Amino acid sequence: MTSGAAGAAPTVAVVGGGLAGLAAAVALASAECRVELFEARRWLGGRAASFHDPKTDELVDHCQHVSMGCCTNLADFCRRTAIDAFFRRDRTLHFIGPDGRCYPLAASAWLPAPLHLASGFWGLKYLSIGERIGIARAMWRLMRMRGADDQRLPTVGRWLREQGQSERAIEWFWGVVLISALGEDLDRASLSAARKVIVDGFLAAREAYTVEVPQAPLSTLYGVRLQAWFARHGVALHVNAPVRQVKLEGQPAVVLADGATRRFDKVVVALPWSKVRDVLSDEIAAAWPLVEQLGSIEAAPISGVHLWFDRSVMELPHAVLVGRLGQWIFKRDRQGDGAHEGHYYQVVISASRNLAGRDRQQIVAEVCAELAAIWPAVGAAQLLHARVVTEHAAVFSVRPGLDHARPLQQTPIAGLFVAGDWTATGWPSTMESAVRSGYLAAEAVLRSLGREQRFLAPDLPRGWLARTLIAD
Ligand SMILES: Cc1cc2nc3c(=O)[nH]c(=O)nc-3n(C[C@H](O)[C@H](O)[C@H](O)COP(=O)(O)OP(=O)(O)OC[C@H]3O[C@@H](n4cnc5c(N)ncnc54)[C@H](O)[C@@H]3O)c2cc1C
Repeated sequence: MTSGAAGAAPTVAVVGGGLAGLAAAVALASAECRVELFEARRWLGGRAASFHDPKTDELVDHCQHVSMGCCTNLADFCRRTAIDAFFRRDRTLHFIGPDGRCYPLAASAWLPAPLHLASGFWGLKYLSIGERIGIARAMWRLMRMRGADDQRLPTVGRWLREQGQSERAIEWFWGVVLISALGEDLDRASLSAARKVIVDGFLAAREAYTVEVPQAPLSTLYGVRLQAWFARHGVALHVNAPVRQVKLEGQPAVVLADGATRRFDKVVVALPWSKVRDVLSDEIAAAWPLVEQLGSIEAAPISGVHLWFDRSVMELPHAVLVGRLGQWIFKRDRQGDGAHEGHYYQVVISASRNLAGRDRQQIVAEVCAELAAIWPAVGAAQLLHARVVTEHAAVFSVRPGLDHARPLQQTPIAGLFVAGDWTATGWPSTMESAVRSGYLAAEAVLRSLGREQRFLAPDLPRGWLARTLIAD
Protein backbone atom coordinates (compact mmCIF):
# COMPACT_ATOMS: atom_id res chain seq x y z
CA MET A 1 0.00 0.00 0.00
CA THR A 2 2.70 2.52 -0.78
CA SER A 3 1.65 5.93 -1.83
CA GLY A 4 4.25 6.36 -4.55
CA ALA A 5 1.98 8.72 -6.47
CA ALA A 6 3.16 12.32 -6.59
CA GLY A 7 1.44 14.45 -3.99
CA ALA A 8 0.03 11.51 -2.01
CA ALA A 9 0.84 11.42 1.69
CA PRO A 10 4.00 9.40 2.35
CA THR A 11 3.50 6.00 3.95
CA VAL A 12 5.51 5.15 7.06
CA ALA A 13 5.68 1.87 8.97
CA VAL A 14 6.62 2.11 12.63
CA VAL A 15 7.84 -1.23 13.99
CA GLY A 16 7.43 -1.46 17.77
CA GLY A 17 4.80 0.12 20.01
CA GLY A 18 6.93 1.19 22.99
CA LEU A 19 7.20 4.88 23.81
CA ALA A 20 9.76 5.43 21.05
CA GLY A 21 7.48 3.98 18.37
CA LEU A 22 4.44 5.71 19.85
CA ALA A 23 6.19 9.10 19.83
CA ALA A 24 7.37 8.60 16.23
CA ALA A 25 3.85 7.60 15.16
CA VAL A 26 2.22 10.54 16.94
CA ALA A 27 4.68 13.02 15.41
CA LEU A 28 4.44 11.59 11.89
CA ALA A 29 0.65 11.37 11.99
CA SER A 30 0.48 15.00 13.03
CA ALA A 31 2.74 15.80 10.03
CA GLU A 32 0.18 14.19 7.74
CA CYS A 33 2.02 10.97 6.98
CA ARG A 34 0.02 7.76 6.56
CA VAL A 35 1.33 5.79 9.51
CA GLU A 36 0.93 2.08 10.27
CA LEU A 37 2.26 0.81 13.59
CA PHE A 38 3.16 -2.86 14.11
CA GLU A 39 3.47 -4.15 17.67
CA ALA A 40 4.32 -7.77 18.51
CA ARG A 41 2.34 -7.88 21.75
CA ARG A 42 -1.37 -7.44 22.23
CA TRP A 43 -0.81 -4.13 24.04
CA LEU A 44 1.11 -0.92 23.52
CA GLY A 45 3.66 0.69 25.81
CA GLY A 46 6.52 -1.83 25.60
CA ARG A 47 8.52 -1.79 28.82
CA ALA A 48 6.18 0.88 30.22
CA ALA A 49 3.13 -1.37 30.49
CA SER A 50 0.88 -3.17 32.96
CA PHE A 51 -0.43 -6.70 33.47
CA HIS A 52 -3.68 -8.05 34.86
CA ASP A 53 -3.27 -9.35 38.40
CA PRO A 54 -5.85 -12.14 38.78
CA LYS A 55 -5.92 -12.03 42.58
CA THR A 56 -6.84 -8.35 42.84
CA ASP A 57 -8.46 -8.22 39.40
CA GLU A 58 -6.72 -4.97 38.54
CA LEU A 59 -4.18 -3.65 36.10
CA VAL A 60 -0.79 -3.48 37.79
CA ASP A 61 2.26 -1.81 36.24
CA HIS A 62 5.16 -4.23 35.86
CA CYS A 63 7.06 -1.59 37.72
CA GLN A 64 6.32 1.94 38.86
CA HIS A 65 7.48 4.42 36.22
CA VAL A 66 8.10 8.02 37.17
CA SER A 67 9.26 10.99 35.18
CA MET A 68 10.91 14.23 36.31
CA GLY A 69 10.29 17.89 35.58
CA CYS A 70 13.34 17.89 33.27
CA CYS A 71 11.69 15.30 30.98
CA THR A 72 10.29 17.92 28.60
CA ASN A 73 9.68 15.58 25.66
CA LEU A 74 7.69 13.01 27.59
CA ALA A 75 5.64 15.93 28.93
CA ASP A 76 5.15 17.23 25.38
CA PHE A 77 4.09 13.76 24.19
CA CYS A 78 1.56 13.50 27.03
CA ARG A 79 0.17 16.94 26.16
CA ARG A 80 -0.12 16.13 22.45
CA THR A 81 -2.03 12.95 23.23
CA ALA A 82 -4.10 14.52 26.04
CA ILE A 83 -2.91 12.16 28.78
CA ASP A 84 -1.03 14.82 30.73
CA ALA A 85 -3.87 15.26 33.22
CA PHE A 86 -3.18 11.71 34.49
CA PHE A 87 0.14 12.68 36.11
CA ARG A 88 0.63 14.03 39.62
CA ARG A 89 3.57 16.33 40.27
CA ASP A 90 5.33 15.81 43.63
CA ARG A 91 7.35 18.92 44.55
CA THR A 92 8.64 17.55 47.84
CA LEU A 93 10.82 14.44 47.81
CA HIS A 94 10.52 12.58 51.10
CA PHE A 95 13.90 11.05 51.98
CA ILE A 96 13.66 8.47 54.78
CA GLY A 97 17.10 8.41 56.42
CA PRO A 98 18.80 5.30 57.78
CA ASP A 99 17.51 6.49 61.19
CA GLY A 100 13.92 6.13 59.92
CA ARG A 101 13.25 9.88 60.06
CA CYS A 102 11.77 11.82 57.16
CA TYR A 103 13.94 14.52 55.54
CA PRO A 104 11.86 16.48 53.02
CA LEU A 105 13.69 17.90 50.03
CA ALA A 106 12.02 20.79 48.20
CA ALA A 107 13.06 23.90 46.31
CA SER A 108 13.51 27.10 48.28
CA ALA A 109 10.93 29.73 47.41
CA TRP A 110 13.50 32.44 46.75
CA LEU A 111 16.85 30.94 45.71
CA PRO A 112 17.40 30.65 41.94
CA ALA A 113 18.74 27.51 40.24
CA PRO A 114 21.26 25.98 40.77
CA LEU A 115 21.01 27.00 44.45
CA HIS A 116 17.29 26.28 44.84
CA LEU A 117 17.85 22.85 46.44
CA ALA A 118 20.85 23.85 48.57
CA SER A 119 18.89 24.12 51.81
CA GLY A 120 17.07 20.86 51.02
CA PHE A 121 20.35 18.99 50.53
CA TRP A 122 21.76 20.67 53.62
CA GLY A 123 18.74 19.36 55.53
CA LEU A 124 19.74 15.71 54.89
CA LYS A 125 21.11 15.59 58.42
CA TYR A 126 21.57 11.85 58.54
CA LEU A 127 24.83 12.78 56.79
CA SER A 128 27.57 14.59 58.74
CA ILE A 129 28.35 18.25 58.10
CA GLY A 130 31.63 17.22 56.46
CA GLU A 131 29.82 14.77 54.19
CA ARG A 132 27.29 17.41 53.14
CA ILE A 133 30.05 19.92 52.40
CA GLY A 134 31.84 17.20 50.40
CA ILE A 135 28.65 16.53 48.41
CA ALA A 136 28.29 20.24 47.63
CA ARG A 137 31.91 20.32 46.47
CA ALA A 138 31.44 17.31 44.18
CA MET A 139 28.25 18.86 42.78
CA TRP A 140 30.15 22.03 42.04
CA ARG A 141 32.80 20.02 40.15
CA LEU A 142 30.10 18.22 38.17
CA MET A 143 28.57 21.56 37.29
CA ARG A 144 31.89 22.96 36.10
CA MET A 145 32.92 19.82 34.19
CA ARG A 146 32.80 20.33 30.44
CA GLY A 147 31.58 17.56 28.17
CA ALA A 148 34.43 15.08 27.78
CA ASP A 149 34.72 11.93 25.71
CA ASP A 150 32.59 9.46 27.64
CA GLN A 151 35.08 6.68 26.86
CA ARG A 152 37.87 8.46 28.72
CA LEU A 153 35.88 9.10 31.87
CA PRO A 154 35.81 6.67 34.82
CA THR A 155 32.70 5.18 36.36
CA VAL A 156 30.92 7.58 38.67
CA GLY A 157 31.76 5.30 41.63
CA ARG A 158 35.47 5.62 40.94
CA TRP A 159 35.21 9.37 40.38
CA LEU A 160 33.37 9.89 43.68
CA ARG A 161 36.07 8.01 45.56
CA GLU A 162 38.72 10.08 43.82
CA GLN A 163 36.85 13.16 45.06
CA GLY A 164 37.20 11.89 48.62
CA GLN A 165 33.51 11.11 49.11
CA SER A 166 32.95 8.87 52.14
CA GLU A 167 31.36 5.44 51.67
CA ARG A 168 28.34 6.72 53.61
CA ALA A 169 27.95 9.73 51.30
CA ILE A 170 28.30 7.42 48.30
CA GLU A 171 25.73 4.95 49.57
CA TRP A 172 23.34 7.31 51.33
CA PHE A 173 23.33 10.18 48.87
CA TRP A 174 24.88 9.48 45.47
CA GLY A 175 23.64 5.90 45.31
CA VAL A 176 20.14 6.85 46.38
CA VAL A 177 19.84 9.56 43.74
CA LEU A 178 21.74 7.97 40.87
CA ILE A 179 20.97 4.24 41.00
CA SER A 180 17.25 4.81 40.59
CA ALA A 181 17.71 7.48 37.92
CA LEU A 182 20.23 5.49 35.88
CA GLY A 183 19.04 1.98 36.73
CA GLU A 184 22.66 1.02 37.28
CA ASP A 185 25.22 0.62 40.07
CA LEU A 186 27.72 3.42 40.63
CA ASP A 187 30.67 1.16 39.89
CA ARG A 188 29.26 0.39 36.45
CA ALA A 189 27.60 3.68 35.44
CA SER A 190 29.51 6.32 33.51
CA LEU A 191 30.41 9.65 35.03
CA SER A 192 28.86 11.53 32.10
CA ALA A 193 25.47 9.83 32.63
CA ALA A 194 25.65 10.65 36.35
CA ARG A 195 26.55 14.26 35.58
CA LYS A 196 23.51 14.52 33.35
CA VAL A 197 21.22 13.34 36.18
CA ILE A 198 22.69 15.73 38.73
CA VAL A 199 22.98 18.75 36.44
CA ASP A 200 19.85 18.41 34.31
CA GLY A 201 17.74 16.69 36.97
CA PHE A 202 18.59 18.80 40.00
CA LEU A 203 20.66 21.89 39.29
CA ALA A 204 19.82 23.42 35.91
CA ALA A 205 16.25 24.60 36.51
CA ARG A 206 13.91 25.03 39.47
CA GLU A 207 11.29 22.48 38.40
CA ALA A 208 13.70 19.87 37.04
CA TYR A 209 13.78 17.71 40.21
CA THR A 210 10.00 17.39 40.62
CA VAL A 211 8.67 13.86 40.24
CA GLU A 212 5.78 13.11 37.89
CA VAL A 213 3.80 10.07 38.98
CA PRO A 214 1.19 8.48 36.69
CA GLN A 215 -2.24 8.23 38.28
CA ALA A 216 -3.55 5.48 36.01
CA PRO A 217 -2.00 2.16 34.95
CA LEU A 218 0.61 2.59 32.22
CA SER A 219 -1.39 0.35 29.88
CA THR A 220 -4.36 2.65 30.23
CA LEU A 221 -2.25 5.71 29.42
CA TYR A 222 0.04 4.41 26.69
CA GLY A 223 -2.39 1.65 25.62
CA VAL A 224 -6.09 2.44 25.71
CA ARG A 225 -5.73 6.22 25.51
CA LEU A 226 -3.12 6.12 22.73
CA GLN A 227 -5.22 3.62 20.80
CA ALA A 228 -8.09 6.11 20.87
CA TRP A 229 -5.74 8.92 19.77
CA PHE A 230 -4.48 6.83 16.85
CA ALA A 231 -8.04 5.99 15.79
CA ARG A 232 -8.89 9.71 15.74
CA HIS A 233 -5.74 10.61 13.80
CA GLY A 234 -5.88 7.90 11.14
CA VAL A 235 -2.96 5.76 12.36
CA ALA A 236 -3.50 2.10 11.42
CA LEU A 237 -2.62 0.07 14.48
CA HIS A 238 -1.66 -3.61 14.21
CA VAL A 239 -1.20 -5.28 17.61
CA ASN A 240 -0.25 -8.93 17.99
CA ALA A 241 1.59 -8.31 14.74
CA PRO A 242 5.29 -9.13 15.10
CA VAL A 243 7.45 -8.01 12.23
CA ARG A 244 9.65 -10.88 11.14
CA GLN A 245 12.00 -8.92 8.90
CA VAL A 246 12.74 -5.46 7.59
CA LYS A 247 14.35 -5.60 4.15
CA LEU A 248 14.90 -3.60 0.98
CA GLU A 249 12.84 -4.18 -2.14
CA GLY A 250 13.74 -1.04 -4.00
CA GLN A 251 12.21 0.66 -0.98
CA PRO A 252 11.99 -0.50 2.64
CA ALA A 253 9.55 -3.32 3.34
CA VAL A 254 8.35 -5.24 6.39
CA VAL A 255 7.69 -8.96 6.40
CA LEU A 256 4.91 -10.02 8.77
CA ALA A 257 4.52 -13.28 10.67
CA ASP A 258 2.28 -14.76 7.95
CA GLY A 259 4.98 -14.07 5.36
CA ALA A 260 3.16 -11.13 3.78
CA THR A 261 5.48 -8.33 2.62
CA ARG A 262 4.37 -4.71 2.88
CA ARG A 263 6.30 -1.89 1.21
CA PHE A 264 6.43 1.62 2.63
CA ASP A 265 8.10 4.88 1.69
CA LYS A 266 9.85 4.92 5.07
CA VAL A 267 10.28 2.46 7.95
CA VAL A 268 11.09 3.39 11.55
CA VAL A 269 12.42 0.43 13.53
CA ALA A 270 11.59 1.15 17.19
CA LEU A 271 12.58 -2.13 18.83
CA PRO A 272 14.71 -2.82 21.92
CA TRP A 273 18.42 -2.74 21.03
CA SER A 274 18.77 -6.50 21.50
CA LYS A 275 16.14 -7.23 18.82
CA VAL A 276 17.13 -4.82 16.06
CA ARG A 277 19.75 -7.01 14.36
CA ASP A 278 17.34 -9.99 14.38
CA VAL A 279 14.78 -8.22 12.18
CA LEU A 280 17.12 -6.43 9.78
CA SER A 281 18.00 -8.32 6.62
CA ASP A 282 21.65 -9.26 6.05
CA GLU A 283 21.74 -6.79 3.18
CA ILE A 284 20.82 -3.95 5.54
CA ALA A 285 23.25 -5.12 8.23
CA ALA A 286 26.08 -5.28 5.68
CA ALA A 287 25.41 -1.67 4.71
CA TRP A 288 25.22 -0.52 8.33
CA PRO A 289 28.05 -2.16 10.34
CA LEU A 290 27.18 -0.29 13.58
CA VAL A 291 24.14 -2.53 13.96
CA GLU A 292 26.39 -5.50 14.79
CA GLN A 293 27.62 -3.62 17.88
CA LEU A 294 24.17 -3.29 19.38
CA GLY A 295 24.37 -6.83 20.73
CA SER A 296 27.25 -5.75 22.97
CA ILE A 297 25.09 -3.21 24.85
CA GLU A 298 24.54 -4.66 28.31
CA ALA A 299 21.22 -4.67 30.13
CA ALA A 300 20.43 -3.93 33.79
CA PRO A 301 17.51 -5.34 35.81
CA ILE A 302 14.85 -3.51 37.84
CA SER A 303 12.46 -5.19 40.28
CA GLY A 304 9.10 -4.01 41.55
CA VAL A 305 7.82 -5.39 44.86
CA HIS A 306 4.03 -5.05 44.91
CA LEU A 307 2.42 -5.12 48.35
CA TRP A 308 -1.25 -5.11 49.28
CA PHE A 309 -1.92 -4.51 53.01
CA ASP A 310 -5.24 -4.66 54.84
CA ARG A 311 -4.81 -1.05 56.02
CA SER A 312 -3.02 2.14 55.19
CA VAL A 313 0.62 1.85 56.32
CA MET A 314 2.16 5.05 54.93
CA GLU A 315 0.51 8.42 54.46
CA LEU A 316 3.24 9.91 52.24
CA PRO A 317 2.57 9.71 48.48
CA HIS A 318 6.09 8.35 47.99
CA ALA A 319 9.33 8.02 49.90
CA VAL A 320 12.99 7.72 48.98
CA LEU A 321 14.47 4.92 51.08
CA VAL A 322 18.07 5.53 52.18
CA GLY A 323 20.38 2.63 52.98
CA ARG A 324 17.78 -0.04 52.27
CA LEU A 325 17.15 -2.77 49.73
CA GLY A 326 14.38 -0.81 47.98
CA GLN A 327 15.14 2.73 46.78
CA TRP A 328 11.62 4.12 46.44
CA ILE A 329 8.16 3.31 47.75
CA PHE A 330 4.98 4.63 46.13
CA LYS A 331 1.50 4.63 47.56
CA ARG A 332 -0.77 3.62 44.68
CA ASP A 333 -4.43 4.38 44.28
CA ARG A 334 -6.50 1.30 43.62
CA GLN A 335 -7.86 0.99 40.09
CA GLY A 336 -11.25 -0.27 39.02
CA ASP A 337 -14.63 -0.02 40.67
CA GLY A 338 -13.36 0.65 44.18
CA ALA A 339 -14.57 -2.68 45.48
CA HIS A 340 -11.01 -3.99 45.96
CA GLU A 341 -9.82 -4.79 49.41
CA GLY A 342 -6.57 -3.42 50.72
CA HIS A 343 -4.03 -0.66 50.29
CA TYR A 344 -1.51 -1.01 47.50
CA TYR A 345 2.17 0.04 47.63
CA GLN A 346 5.04 -0.50 45.29
CA VAL A 347 8.71 -0.67 46.23
CA VAL A 348 11.24 -0.24 43.41
CA ILE A 349 14.66 -1.89 43.45
CA SER A 350 16.85 -0.65 40.59
CA ALA A 351 19.97 -2.48 39.39
CA SER A 352 18.52 -5.46 41.27
CA ARG A 353 21.22 -8.01 40.44
CA ASN A 354 21.62 -8.58 44.19
CA LEU A 355 18.18 -10.28 44.21
CA ALA A 356 19.34 -13.10 41.94
CA GLY A 357 19.03 -16.42 43.73
CA ARG A 358 16.70 -15.11 46.44
CA ASP A 359 13.16 -16.40 46.44
CA ARG A 360 10.08 -14.22 46.39
CA GLN A 361 9.19 -14.78 50.06
CA GLN A 362 12.65 -13.77 51.24
CA ILE A 363 12.54 -10.55 49.22
CA VAL A 364 9.04 -9.65 50.40
CA ALA A 365 9.98 -10.44 54.02
CA GLU A 366 13.12 -8.29 53.86
CA VAL A 367 11.29 -5.37 52.23
CA CYS A 368 8.42 -5.58 54.75
CA ALA A 369 10.85 -5.75 57.69
CA GLU A 370 12.61 -2.62 56.40
CA LEU A 371 9.31 -0.81 55.96
CA ALA A 372 8.14 -1.89 59.44
CA ALA A 373 11.30 -0.37 60.93
CA ILE A 374 10.19 2.97 59.42
CA TRP A 375 6.40 2.70 59.68
CA PRO A 376 5.31 0.48 62.61
CA ALA A 377 1.86 0.17 60.95
CA VAL A 378 3.48 -2.22 58.46
CA GLY A 379 4.31 -4.62 61.30
CA ALA A 380 0.75 -4.49 62.59
CA ALA A 381 -0.88 -4.79 59.16
CA GLN A 382 -1.81 -7.98 57.40
CA LEU A 383 -0.14 -8.52 54.05
CA LEU A 384 -2.99 -9.63 51.81
CA HIS A 385 -1.03 -10.21 48.64
CA ALA A 386 2.48 -9.65 47.28
CA ARG A 387 4.24 -9.96 43.96
CA VAL A 388 7.84 -9.49 42.91
CA VAL A 389 8.26 -8.59 39.23
CA THR A 390 11.79 -8.43 37.82
CA GLU A 391 12.53 -7.15 34.33
CA HIS A 392 15.97 -8.50 33.57
CA ALA A 393 16.54 -6.22 30.57
CA ALA A 394 14.72 -3.24 32.04
CA VAL A 395 17.23 -0.65 30.87
CA PHE A 396 20.51 -0.51 29.01
CA SER A 397 23.55 -0.26 31.22
CA VAL A 398 25.06 3.24 30.98
CA ARG A 399 28.67 2.02 30.91
CA PRO A 400 31.52 4.43 30.12
CA GLY A 401 31.95 4.59 26.35
CA LEU A 402 28.39 3.48 25.56
CA ASP A 403 27.67 6.68 23.64
CA HIS A 404 29.92 5.41 20.83
CA ALA A 405 27.60 2.45 20.26
CA ARG A 406 24.40 4.52 20.16
CA PRO A 407 23.38 5.20 16.55
CA LEU A 408 21.65 8.27 15.18
CA GLN A 409 17.99 7.83 14.24
CA GLN A 410 18.85 8.41 10.57
CA THR A 411 20.61 5.25 9.32
CA PRO A 412 22.86 5.16 6.24
CA ILE A 413 20.13 3.17 4.43
CA ALA A 414 17.69 5.29 2.43
CA GLY A 415 14.23 5.13 3.94
CA LEU A 416 15.29 3.31 7.13
CA PHE A 417 15.26 5.00 10.56
CA VAL A 418 15.65 3.74 14.11
CA ALA A 419 14.15 4.87 17.40
CA GLY A 420 14.46 3.55 20.93
CA ASP A 421 15.77 4.76 24.27
CA TRP A 422 19.15 3.26 23.26
CA THR A 423 19.66 5.46 20.18
CA ALA A 424 21.71 8.66 20.35
CA THR A 425 19.67 10.97 22.55
CA GLY A 426 22.25 11.81 25.23
CA TRP A 427 19.83 10.48 27.85
CA PRO A 428 19.96 7.35 29.99
CA SER A 429 17.46 4.52 29.42
CA THR A 430 14.23 6.34 30.24
CA MET A 431 10.82 7.17 28.83
CA GLU A 432 12.22 10.63 28.05
CA SER A 433 14.99 9.10 25.96
CA ALA A 434 12.46 6.88 24.15
CA VAL A 435 10.19 9.84 23.28
CA ARG A 436 13.16 11.98 22.22
CA SER A 437 14.31 9.20 19.91
CA GLY A 438 10.84 8.91 18.39
CA TYR A 439 10.65 12.64 17.77
CA LEU A 440 14.18 12.69 16.31
CA ALA A 441 13.30 9.76 14.02
CA ALA A 442 10.16 11.61 12.86
CA GLU A 443 12.22 14.74 12.16
CA ALA A 444 14.69 12.64 10.14
CA VAL A 445 11.87 10.98 8.16
CA LEU A 446 10.45 14.38 7.23
CA ARG A 447 13.89 15.75 6.41
CA SER A 448 14.39 12.85 3.98
CA LEU A 449 11.15 13.99 2.33
CA GLY A 450 12.49 17.52 2.00
CA ARG A 451 10.46 18.86 4.94
CA GLU A 452 11.94 20.53 8.02
CA GLN A 453 9.72 20.17 11.05
CA ARG A 454 10.80 20.23 14.66
CA PHE A 455 9.21 17.99 17.27
CA LEU A 456 11.95 17.88 19.90
CA ALA A 457 10.87 20.02 22.84
CA PRO A 458 13.49 22.36 24.32
CA ASP A 459 15.01 21.64 27.72
CA LEU A 460 13.72 23.65 30.69
CA PRO A 461 15.01 27.21 30.36
CA ARG A 462 18.03 28.05 32.52
CA GLY A 463 18.11 31.27 34.50
CA TRP A 464 21.09 33.63 34.39
CA LEU A 465 22.86 32.08 37.38
CA ALA A 466 22.51 28.53 36.05
CA ARG A 467 23.74 29.69 32.64
CA THR A 468 26.73 31.35 34.29
CA LEU A 469 27.70 28.52 36.63
CA ILE A 470 26.98 25.37 34.60
CA ALA A 471 29.65 24.60 32.03
CA ASP A 472 28.50 22.96 28.81
C1 LIG B 1 11.02 -2.28 35.44
C2 LIG B 1 11.26 -1.00 34.72
C3 LIG B 1 11.23 0.20 35.39
C4 LIG B 1 11.47 1.40 34.71
N1 LIG B 1 11.34 2.58 35.35
C5 LIG B 1 11.42 3.74 34.65
C6 LIG B 1 11.11 4.98 35.26
O1 LIG B 1 10.72 5.06 36.43
N2 LIG B 1 11.24 6.12 34.52
C7 LIG B 1 11.62 6.08 33.19
O2 LIG B 1 11.68 7.14 32.56
N3 LIG B 1 11.91 4.90 32.59
C8 LIG B 1 11.81 3.74 33.28
N4 LIG B 1 12.07 2.55 32.65
C9 LIG B 1 12.62 2.57 31.29
C10 LIG B 1 11.52 2.79 30.24
O3 LIG B 1 10.46 1.89 30.43
C11 LIG B 1 12.13 2.57 28.87
O4 LIG B 1 13.29 3.37 28.72
C12 LIG B 1 11.18 2.93 27.73
O5 LIG B 1 9.88 2.47 27.97
C13 LIG B 1 11.73 2.30 26.44
O6 LIG B 1 10.85 2.53 25.36
P1 LIG B 1 11.24 2.00 23.90
O7 LIG B 1 10.11 2.30 23.02
O8 LIG B 1 12.59 2.53 23.54
O9 LIG B 1 11.43 0.42 24.02
P2 LIG B 1 10.37 -0.69 24.42
O10 LIG B 1 9.46 -0.17 25.46
O11 LIG B 1 11.16 -1.91 24.73
O12 LIG B 1 9.50 -0.91 23.08
C14 LIG B 1 9.85 -1.79 22.05
C15 LIG B 1 8.56 -2.44 21.52
O13 LIG B 1 8.89 -3.28 20.41
C16 LIG B 1 8.04 -4.41 20.46
N5 LIG B 1 8.61 -5.47 19.63
C17 LIG B 1 9.64 -6.31 19.89
N6 LIG B 1 9.87 -7.11 18.85
C18 LIG B 1 8.98 -6.77 17.88
C19 LIG B 1 8.74 -7.22 16.55
N7 LIG B 1 9.49 -8.19 15.99
N8 LIG B 1 7.74 -6.65 15.84
C20 LIG B 1 6.99 -5.65 16.38
N9 LIG B 1 7.17 -5.19 17.64
C21 LIG B 1 8.16 -5.74 18.37
C22 LIG B 1 8.01 -4.74 21.94
O14 LIG B 1 6.93 -5.59 22.25
C23 LIG B 1 7.87 -3.34 22.54
O15 LIG B 1 6.54 -2.96 22.67
C24 LIG B 1 11.82 1.36 33.32
C25 LIG B 1 11.85 0.14 32.65
C26 LIG B 1 11.54 -1.02 33.32
C27 LIG B 1 11.47 -2.30 32.54
